[in-house]
Amino acid sequence: MAEYFHSVTLDTESCRGCITCVKRCPTEAIRVRNGKAQITKERCIDCGECIRVCPHHAKHAVTDPLAAIKGFKYKVALPPPSLFGQYKNQEDLELIRAGLLALGFDEVFEVAAAAELVSSATRMMLERGKLKKPVISSACPAVLRLIKIRFPNLLENVLPISSPMEVAAKLAREQAVRNSGLKPEEIGIVFITPCPAKVTAIKNPFGIDKSDVDLAVSSAEVYPVLLSAMNKLAKNWKGDADTAQTGRTGLSWGNSGGEAGATLATSYLAADGIENVINVLEEMEDNKLADQDFVELNACPAGCVGGVLNVENPYVVVTRLKHLWAYLPVSCNNIKSGSIPKELLWTKDIKPLKTLSLSGDPFEAMRMMRKLEKIESKLYGLDCGSCGSPSCRALAEDIVRGYATEDLCIYLLKDKVDAVRSSMLSLKLESREKGEG
Ligand code: SF4
Ligand code: SF4
Repeated sequence: MAEYFHSVTLDTESCRGCITCVKRCPTEAIRVRNGKAQITKERCIDCGECIRVCPHHAKHAVTDPLAAIKGFKYKVALPPPSLFGQYKNQEDLELIRAGLLALGFDEVFEVAAAAELVSSATRMMLERGKLKKPVISSACPAVLRLIKIRFPNLLENVLPISSPMEVAAKLAREQAVRNSGLKPEEIGIVFITPCPAKVTAIKNPFGIDKSDVDLAVSSAEVYPVLLSAMNKLAKNWKGDADTAQTGRTGLSWGNSGGEAGATLATSYLAADGIENVINVLEEMEDNKLADQDFVELNACPAGCVGGVLNVENPYVVVTRLKHLWAYLPVSCNNIKSGSIPKELLWTKDIKPLKTLSLSGDPFEAMRMMRKLEKIESKLYGLDCGSCGSPSCRALAEDIVRGYATEDLCIYLLKDKVDAVRSSMLSLKLESREKGEG
C-alpha cells in the first residue's frame, strides 16, 4: 500500500526543539527527541496547528508551485470562498476572476458554486430523514481524519457527500472538456488551497477513489501575484459582464456557520478551532448533542478563512465576505431534479484508523495498558513536556510502545541522581565512623 502522504512537514534544520508544537498538537502526534521535533505520521491530521504556533517557522505545508500549471494544455482555477475575502476594498468579484485569468488560467470555476450544490443535496438528505443525527459535515478533511483516529464511533454520523472542492473539480473538468474540446487528462484542475489538510485530502481522498484535483497551489503563493494582476487590470477596469457563479449561500461556506446555516435545519451548531471541535466531538460521544440535526466542524479558527495558508486575519476576512454577500443573490446553484446527482455522493465508506490502540491483540493491549498505568503512577503528573512527550501519560505510552525510556523524565532522573548521591554520602559517613576516612 502506498505510504500516506502528509502535506505538513518539518524542516529539521530550523527546529530548536522548543516543544511549543508538542504541547499544541491535538492528536499528540509530535515528540521532541535528541533536540528535534518528530511527527508520527499515523497520528497527524494535517490540521496545520504546528505550522501556526512554531516560533521558528520549522513546520511547512507542501503544496504545488503555481508554475506547475504550465504542464497542462488547458488550466482551470478553483478559488475557494476564503480567497475572495483576502483583498482590501474589493467589491467586484469579476476583477478577482479576471485576475486569475491574467495569471494564465483558461477558466475559473468557483468552489462556492459547488458548495451551493452540496448545500442543496444536504437539505434533500436531511429531509429524507435517513441519516443518523446529529449529521456531521464532511467538508473539513482535518476533522474527518480526526474522527477516523479519535472518534471512530461517530463515523456513521458523517454526511456521505463529497466536499465542495471535489464536486467543483469534477464539474470543472466536465465543463472544460466541453469548452476546449480537449481530453480530460489534458486539463489541469488547480485548487487554490487555504490549508494543508486539503492538500493531503487530494492525495488521500475521503469517500471516493481518486481526487479530480490535479494541483494544489497555496493561497499565500497566489495572493501577491493575483494582487499585482488585479492592480494592473483595475487601471482600465470598467467592470465585466456579470458572470456571477455563486450567491451568498456559496460564499458563506468560507466562514464557520455558513454551511450549517444553509442546511435550513431547525437545530444546528457550528464549531471552529481544533480545540472547540474536539470538545463538540467529545460531547457527541457522550450523547449530549442528540437534539441537534446538523453539526458543522472546522479545524481552523473562524472556518476556512482561518487556514494557515491564507494571508489575511480570518476575522477581517469574515467581515469582508459578509460585505460581499450584500451584492449577491441568495443562491445560483440548486439541484433541480428529485434525485441527488451521483457526482456528489461518496462511493465508498470511510473506515476507522486504529493508530491509537496499543495492540491489535486485546489481551496484549490490556497488558500494555496495565503497564502504562503503572509507569504513569511513578511519574510526577506535571505534564511539563521536558521529556519531549506532550504529557506524562504520553511518555508512559511511549515507554510501553518502546519509543522512549524513563530516563527522559528529568524528575525521575533527578530522583535517581539523588538516590546515588545519598548512598555515596552514607558510604562516606560509614567509612568515616570506622576511622577509614
Ligand atoms: S515548535 Fe516544534 S517544530 Fe518549531 S522549533 Fe519548537 S519543537 Fe521545533
Ligand atoms: S499538522 Fe496538526 S496533527 Fe499534524 S503534527 Fe501538526 S499539529 Fe499535529
